[in-house]
Amino acid sequence: MRMSQFFLPVLKENPSEAQIVSHRLMLRAGMVRQASAGIYSWLPLGWRVLQKIEQIVREEQDAAGAQEILMPTMQPAELWRESGRYDDYGQEMLRIKDRHDRDMLFGPTNEELITDIFRHSVRSYRQLPQNLYHIQWKFRDEVRPRFGVMRGREFLMKDNYSFDIDYDGARRSYQKMFVAYLRTFERMGLKAIPMEADTGPIGGDMSHEFIILADTGESEVHCHADFLDFSVAGDVDYDSDLSSIIEHWTSRYAATDEKHDAERFEAKVPADRRISTRGIEVGHIFYFGTKYSAPLGATVTGPDGQDIAVEMGSYGIGVSRLVGAIIEASHDDDGIVWPDAVAPFNVGIVNLKAGDAACDEAAGHIYRTLSDHGLDVLVDDTEERAGSKFATMDLIGLPWQLVVGPRGLKSGQVELKNRRSGERVELSIDDALSRVSTA
Ligand code: ATP
Ligand code: MG
Repeated sequence: MRMSQFFLPVLKENPSEAQIVSHRLMLRAGMVRQASAGIYSWLPLGWRVLQKIEQIVREEQDAAGAQEILMPTMQPAELWRESGRYDDYGQEMLRIKDRHDRDMLFGPTNEELITDIFRHSVRSYRQLPQNLYHIQWKFRDEVRPRFGVMRGREFLMKDNYSFDIDYDGARRSYQKMFVAYLRTFERMGLKAIPMEADTGPIGGDMSHEFIILADTGESEVHCHADFLDFSVAGDVDYDSDLSSIIEHWTSRYAATDEKHDAERFEAKVPADRRISTRGIEVGHIFYFGTKYSAPLGATVTGPDGQDIAVEMGSYGIGVSRLVGAIIEASHDDDGIVWPDAVAPFNVGIVNLKAGDAACDEAAGHIYRTLSDHGLDVLVDDTEERAGSKFATMDLIGLPWQLVVGPRGLKSGQVELKNRRSGERVELSIDDALSRVSTA
């Protein structure tokens, strides 16, 4: 992509409405534009990141055996009356009437709709387990939409739903999602800590929120510092017993405020390893048994011919919230520092003298070579001043910057800068190309 043609409305000034750094940087880098409180348009740079995040989520769901579908944003109220949630949900639900005066709603979540699909399609326990997901926009009329895309009213969520014949099956489905979530967030360069969360009337231990530690988070959280060194690297066989991975990740204390028990925290965690801070909830996994299958009549015929209400769980990831959360976790004074896996472009080429034959040719050659390697490349071919080009590149946070200028080119050199470390080196074009394409 050429900067001269790219729709990138960067702001020079700090927008006054932004209270936290991710919101400020997303506006300054021209990633999103607010349409109305908590409702955003995604501009090219932001949309590229959102799609990269979405794709990682998708790949990890598929690897864990979930199947992608797409349910609509608009849902009929009837289904929510069947579960009893139409009245319970309150003002967060956006209620709409269609031209026939039928009650509709913009889905805040999809338990009812998926249970309806299930009950009309699955009859026998032999067809279980099932796990279906979609990545779709949700609407919740939040009292206080704020912090940009972190607490929006319209936001993109991955949500999936598992169906099993019994508790043991449901537990396995839960474990698969637990591991898939660890992998998903780790691939995005995040340290997400699974924390015990409220299970409501169901009880038990199968509700975890995945939390990124950040001062600007909305939840108060407490955990063991060991989590910061945990990793789930390597291949996972989802058909094998996952208990040891779960045990490892639940072996230390980690709880959100609702589940926090100060006495247990102090007993289990040495004083110098206690972290009490704030966190951003990027995902939530939850087992809820027959809460929806019973009232909606989602049953299958069991081995003995009797009808059994299926055991369900639901699993959410805040895909659009993650864009903000990643920036909260990865930025510096000059702007965003994208982890490679979600960067809108892998490399930014700064052509210091657009219009100069040697510079244009070198920039073009670098651009084509890296693109042929499958990298996403943005080349700044504008006539802006050098200082302003550097500032924009730092602001939008691409992992690598390659600076092409007339002075260096005389000796066949370009400058390569790593955005995260700030390290700069002068290299021949070929060496720079191989550094970037093998990184
Ligand atoms: P919160 O406690 O932050 O309001 P929640 O518990 O209501 O979230 P869930 O129903 O568990 O949210 O939704 C799954 C995921 O969707 C959350 O973990 C979060 O990452 C994301 N999410 C929820 N509400 C919003 C929102 N208003 N804006 C952006 N993302 C959201
Ligand atoms: Mg939640």
